[in-house]
Amino acid sequence: MRVIFLGPPGSGKGTQAKRLQSALNIPQLSTGDLLREAVRKGNELGKQAAEFMSAGKLVPDQLVIALILTRMEQDDCSGGFILDGFPRTLAQAQALEDALAAVSKPVQQVIEIRIEQDKLVERLVGRRICPNGHGEWHIRFNPPKQEGRCDTCGEALEHRDDDHEEKIITRFEAYRKDTEPLVQFYTERGNLAVIDGDRDIDDVTREIAAAVGA
Ligand code: ADP
Ligand code: ADP
Repeated sequence: MRVIFLGPPGSGKGTQAKRLQSALNIPQLSTGDLLREAVRKGNELGKQAAEFMSAGKLVPDQLVIALILTRMEQDDCSGGFILDGFPRTLAQAQALEDALAAVSKPVQQVIEIRIEQDKLVERLVGRRICPNGHGEWHIRFNPPKQEGRCDTCGEALEHRDDDHEEKIITRFEAYRKDTEPLVQFYTERGNLAVIDGDRDIDDVTREIAAAVGA
């Protein structure tokens, strides 16, 4: 199955996409995770993306489109994938649609996690992520078993440098201006399901599972 997760920063895309990948046995592809990995490695992509990311701005379309289309060619994507954080602009959505149409494998389900912006700042400021990509926790809403440590690998959890209030506001603005038009784009294609993200993590998971028939 080919699924897209849409929603503002902090709405729960990463948390829910990781749960759904286990349920459907298809990979979660997060452009945020892939870009942070490139920055950590210090490769050419990382060098080009770092400045945008730490300012809370979107990385230029051509870089992100090349990154995700290359990743989607790997064998583990042959049975489908969950896109988390891509597309984020109309140009990205169009490039994805064209690439998938060329191989007759269109997106089947778009999940929009909808939630008021004023609920999200606390979620983002309290988010802690595993540097090895094992997931995200929250100091209050979803604490790890051992304080400050990843449940999977035990590594010290990190506070993202863009998860601070000033940059969070810039990211919300980018979402409203560049990403929200995708709701209309996918509504017109008839495969958008709107999920209420302002509920317990498990309740959101159940509603998403029902929407994708998992
Ligand atoms: P996104 O990928 O959309 O930016 P995340 O999945 O990383 O969002 O979630 C943002 C933060 O909010 C994380 O710290 C996560 O643990 C927490 N979180 C996710 N879903 C919920 C929820 N339904 N209720 C409370 N906190 C949540
Ligand atoms: P969020 O928790 O806000 O959903 P992500 O981890 O998905 O954050 O993304 C972090 C940052 O990486 C974004 O603020 C942006 O700079 C960059 N980024 C991720 N995905 C994209 C994309 N599809 N297009 C442009 N920039 C992106």
